[in-house]
Amino acid sequence: SKRIDVKDLNVFYGDFLAVQDVNMVIEPRAVTALIGPSGCGKSTFLRTLNRMHEVIPGARVEGHALMDGQDLYGDDVDPVEVRRQVGMVFQRPNPFPTMSIADNVLAGVKLNNKRMSKSDQEALVERALRGANLWEEVKDRLDRPGSSISGGQQQRLCIARAIAVQPQVLLMDEPCSALDPISTLAIEDLIAELKSEYTIVIVTHNMQQAARVSDTTGFFNIAGTGKPGRLIEMDATE
Ligand code: ADP
Ligand code: ADP
Repeated sequence: SKRIDVKDLNVFYGDFLAVQDVNMVIEPRAVTALIGPSGCGKSTFLRTLNRMHEVIPGARVEGHALMDGQDLYGDDVDPVEVRRQVGMVFQRPNPFPTMSIADNVLAGVKLNNKRMSKSDQEALVERALRGANLWEEVKDRLDRPGSSISGGQQQRLCIARAIAVQPQVLLMDEPCSALDPISTLAIEDLIAELKSEYTIVIVTHNMQQAARVSDTTGFFNIAGTGKPGRLIEMDATE
């Protein structure tokens, strides 16, 4: 769990300024919620925190994001290592559909470590699935495809895949928007448990959800101003 200091951040797509002049402290062992209208740059901002913007043609970042003091954009920093330390969970649960549940959990780990023993792999699968509150539901069907479980279970599988690589930070981009209310509550409970270990940033459209899960809420700019996304306020959620 690490702290992130965002300093004077601007993000461009070509000439278009999508995120302007964001300064923000993201505290460790806490949940920071980001709220704002569609198109104000929330997803763009999240992507800058694990250098995913670099895979988008034309996207460019100015400014700094310091993770426990180390600039994530430093020349000597390996973007692959940043992505290992800063995991991402998306709006649509995106397990590899034909890959088994167990292999889905291991998918990220195997990018870094191809020579794990079978027993180490099994232990890691169990640990990550327990960490994602999914173990009891899938322990008898680990070899079934990722697509064989419900949407809410698939989202927890994606969280298991993200935490299996032992990141410091978890970014969640509207992780409940595609889920039913019961699955949503399961994810919110899980977020509350995960915050003891990870720095969590969640983008949500739901004020009640922000109030339920977050310690701090960052409000991005108001619709119709015609301006790029700016952080207008940071508030303690309670
Ligand atoms: P939000 O997540 O708040 O809905 P986004 O970060 O997705 O906002 O988008 C912010 C702005 O940047 C929008 O105007 C969007 O159209 C634009 N944008 C997002 N992705 C790209 C891209 N790959 N290329 C060009 N413009 C983009
Ligand atoms: P969301 O609603 O989840 O924020 P969007 O609908 O804004 O997603 O964007 C969906 C995808 O299209 C994203 O990968 C985003 O980067 C891309 N995108 C969004 N706006 C533009 C744009 N103006 N030009 C190119 N790509 C864009």
